[in-house]
Amino acid sequence: MAAPVLAIVIPCYNDSEALPISVARLTAILDRLIVADRVAEESYLLCVDDGSTDDTWAVISDLHERDTRIKGVALAHNRGQQYALIAGLTAVNGKCDAAVTIDADLQDDPEAIVAMTDLFLAGKEIVYGVRASRASDSWFKRTTARAFYRLQQRLGVDTIYDHADYRLMSSRAIEMLADYGESNLFLRGIIPQLGLDTGVVRYNRQERVAGRSKYSFTRMVSFSIDGITSFSAKPIRMIFLLGLALLCVDIVVAIYVFTSYFADKVIIGWTSLMLSIWFLGSVILMGIGIVGEYVGKIFNEVKHRPRYAIKTTLWD
Ligand code: UDP
Ligand code: MG
Repeated sequence: MAAPVLAIVIPCYNDSEALPISVARLTAILDRLIVADRVAEESYLLCVDDGSTDDTWAVISDLHERDTRIKGVALAHNRGQQYALIAGLTAVNGKCDAAVTIDADLQDDPEAIVAMTDLFLAGKEIVYGVRASRASDSWFKRTTARAFYRLQQRLGVDTIYDHADYRLMSSRAIEMLADYGESNLFLRGIIPQLGLDTGVVRYNRQERVAGRSKYSFTRMVSFSIDGITSFSAKPIRMIFLLGLALLCVDIVVAIYVFTSYFADKVIIGWTSLMLSIWFLGSVILMGIGIVGEYVGKIFNEVKHRPRYAIKTTLWD
């Protein structure tokens, strides 16, 4: 059997500092795999510029000029990492036997690609890169990430613990992924749903090679909300259950109110009234917020808009 064509897809947003370093390391790994006859000579890298505002695209063009194995796709707007990834995977669909997606900052050890390729050659369709340690992440990022994975599992979202978007997918997996036309993308939730044979490679998460993280706290929160509301309707049920529980409390309150009334007690009642108004008000608002989250999703899905617009492509 001929060696498979491997594509390495790299989402890039304002990562012009990190790119030359990471592309050099990734091409070196690719060369090693080619020499060892593990992957085909036509294997390549694809940098997806996610609407960067710095000179990321100039850097990609420059790299492409020097080595045409480094290809590029530029999105017209900044759509976020998930969309840059799906744009890249769509671009390589049918043009490779397997694709690895990896961040431009090389926080995810690129050496794991070798082990991923080995598992692919052994027949695995999807290989997850899983963080063996998060020592280089801040305490805050580590704790919030852990809490997020746990919450997702509680809510019945099928994800892999401590796996982000560093993974290998076979051409078959990429083709199947193309059938998921949803606008609210959370790849980590979709990939396990493909139901293909999977493997795991462990690695240590490192510091960025250059530049700064593009995920602010608010972006992390909105990503987490997306990850849950795109896959689970449990939050709506929880609101309903909360309402039910409050109804039970209400019965007790009603009994208390009536006994006080018939006992002819003078009830000032201001405190309890204020407490109830505020408490119920917040519960109602929470409910509206959660329902609104889903309505927003329905709104996005029914529009069936393209998920991104490609501005330029560098290929041959
Ligand atoms: N990224 C992207 N679009 C964005 C934000 C980030 O394509 O809107 C890319 C970024 O260039 C990097 C990867 O996604 O390759 C992960 O981003 P980052 O390292 O900032 O996230 P962190 O590792 O801090 O979670
Ligand atoms: Mg990073």
